[in-house]
Amino acid sequence: MDVRVLLKHTWTDPVNCLNSGCHGAVCNRLPTLIKNDNMDTIKIMGTTNIARTDDLPEKQVVYQRTLKSAVKCDGVGLHSGEPVHLTLKPAAAGTGIVFVRTDVDVDKSVIPARWDLVVDTRLCTVIANDHGVRVGTIEHLMAALAGCGLDNVVVEVSAPEVPVMDGSSGPFVFLIECAGVVEQDQPRRIIKILKPIRVVDGDAQATLEPDTNFTLDVQVHFEGTAVSRQALQVGMKNGSFCKELARARTFGFLDEVEALQAAGLGKGGSLDNAIVIDGLTIMNKDGLRFDDEFVRHKMLDAVGDLFLAGGAILGKFAGKRSGHALNNALLRALFADDDAWKYDELRGDAVKTAIDGGIFADQQVMTAAV
Ligand SMILES: [Zn+2]
Repeated sequence: MDVRVLLKHTWTDPVNCLNSGCHGAVCNRLPTLIKNDNMDTIKIMGTTNIARTDDLPEKQVVYQRTLKSAVKCDGVGLHSGEPVHLTLKPAAAGTGIVFVRTDVDVDKSVIPARWDLVVDTRLCTVIANDHGVRVGTIEHLMAALAGCGLDNVVVEVSAPEVPVMDGSSGPFVFLIECAGVVEQDQPRRIIKILKPIRVVDGDAQATLEPDTNFTLDVQVHFEGTAVSRQALQVGMKNGSFCKELARARTFGFLDEVEALQAAGLGKGGSLDNAIVIDGLTIMNKDGLRFDDEFVRHKMLDAVGDLFLAGGAILGKFAGKRSGHALNNALLRALFADDDAWKYDELRGDAVKTAIDGGIFADQQVMTAAV
């Protein structure tokens, strides 16, 4: 099944949600779903359809996951302001997350989503292959893929940027829910943290340390602005990414946005895809989606950036004033120390812990319940 989904770029009006059971965790201002006449019926699974983990049959191993079908959307590049076509496609076990630029020569088009291919972190996370072919603004899509428990996906983009959508991971989670998720025949490989790793840049720092779950502890400090100081700890329990983080939007300060646009960047940026802050004022007409939306978005960014490790991390992440650069520096420090991590699989008793810990996330559970 090839599902054609058109996500409206500007979601200023409520649109009909096809999931009658939805209570807004993903589907508040849900994009319009356009179906071709010959298309199979799409079952949209909102978070209300998530099975409780104790309802699940006993599992002895966590297997890899991919999409059940391809799914497409159109959006705009944050920096170019140009239209971008995005297609998410199923991929074989062991593939990982792989970006493919459809606007360049085929033999130069493949860019694996890996920490060691990150070439720029100033405005967003950018990866590039040996041919210098780049794709940027990948972090919100990577977070959605991680948060929905996917291992293997081919991401086709028609431009050097993933579409910004609404500045959150919500639209990508919606796409994944449209496509569905299937289990594959190889065990999921995770990255188990064995000892603390810490990177520091001035008063910013990020750490990874051993834990039985995937947990995050993030602080943002923008004193004297509407962001102020926010801190949040989230144990990535089953479903928590979609409920707690996916809809948190990126944010920027008005003077920075103006400087960016004067430099010819951020052309696609608007109040429809970012929270814009002017001192103590939120400029978006509808305000915030969460009181602490800023720290939730920083956490979302960390989920996406850490997924460039090449698999789900079993450990605790803590970030203070951290961002894309420090997140990538943390992975580089981790993989520079062979004693700090190991590949592992989730078997036996670790499976239940993994579900509660978000290593085996809600999308997977939903699929198991269908
Ligand atoms: Zn972000």
